[in-house]
Amino acid sequence: MVGGREANRDVCDANHKVVSGSSESVRCGTAFDVTRKEGGAESSVADVNNVYTFFGQASDFYQKYVNVDLTELIGADYSDGTGKALRGTVRICVDGECPFANAFWDGEQMAFGEGVTTDDITGHELTHGVTQHTSGLSGGQADSINEGLSDVFGKFIGITSNDPNDTGDNRWLLGAGSSLGAIRNMKDPRSSLSPQPDRVNGPGWETNNPDEHINDGVVNKADYLITDGDTFNGQTVRGLGLDKSVQIWWGVENTLTQSATFKDVGDALNSSCAALAKAGTAGITTDDCTQVGNAVKATQLDQDPK
Ligand SMILES: [Zn+2]
Repeated sequence: MVGGREANRDVCDANHKVVSGSSESVRCGTAFDVTRKEGGAESSVADVNNVYTFFGQASDFYQKYVNVDLTELIGADYSDGTGKALRGTVRICVDGECPFANAFWDGEQMAFGEGVTTDDITGHELTHGVTQHTSGLSGGQADSINEGLSDVFGKFIGITSNDPNDTGDNRWLLGAGSSLGAIRNMKDPRSSLSPQPDRVNGPGWETNNPDEHINDGVVNKADYLITDGDTFNGQTVRGLGLDKSVQIWWGVENTLTQSATFKDVGDALNSSCAALAKAGTAGITTDDCTQVGNAVKATQLDQDPK
C-alpha cells in the first residue's frame, strides 16, 4: 500500500474443477465461494496466496505510478457481500486440460490454471482489464498492441515489486517461474519460445496476425530500449529508466484508440513523451524524447505495417 486507497481483493479456489471456460463458469463470488477476501487469513493453497499478493502489488503499482485505483477501474461487484473487488479464481481446469497451463482476463475478473500465478502473468492479465477500460484496443493488429501493453505493464509491476522472477537475469523474461517457463523475451523477441519480430516488417513479422502474441514482440522491444537503452538496428538509445518509461507508456495507453495500428504506437510514444516533457512530469526532458524517437526508429514503429 503506497498511499491513497486500499485494494479490495477476492480470490477463489476451483480446486481442479473442470469448468466450461465461459465467464459465468469461473466467477469468484458466484460460481465459487471466496477462499480469501481482503484482510482474510492465508489459505493453504499457494496459488490463492500468490494471486492475493500479486493483486496487491498490481494495485500498488497503478496507484503509485499513475494514480489509478485498480479496484475502482476494473473491479466487479457480484452482490456477494464483498463489494466491488479485484476477483480471481485459481486452479481451474478446462475441457480435460488439467492442470490448465494458462490464465485469462474474462472481461470482469481473472481465471488461472495451476502453476501460472506469477507476478508478471497476473499483471499482464489485469492490464487487459485496464486496456479494456482505457484505449479499448480490439481487433486485428490492435489485439497484438493490446498484448504488448499487457507485457509492458505486467513486467513493470513485477520489476517494481522486486519479484525474483522479474529481476536480475529475469528482468525482461515473461513467465519465468511459471510452469510454462519464460515464454517471451522482451529484450530479444527473436529468442522467445515462439519467435517474435523485434521491428515492424522485420523478420518474423506476421502480416495477417494469426496469433496476437507474435507481433507484440515489437512493443516489448521498444519498452526494453526506452527503459534500459541499447544499440539496435542502427540506432543508439540512452535508457530513460523505469520511472520515466512508465509515464511514457501510460500516455500511450491513454492516447491509442480501439483500432490503433503499430504506426500509431510510434506516434503515441513520441507525442506522449513530448507532452510529459512540456509538463515536466517525472523529470522527462526533450533529450529523453530524442531517445524515444530513436527507439521508435529502431523498432520501425514509424513505418506503415505490411
Ligand atoms: Zn494477454
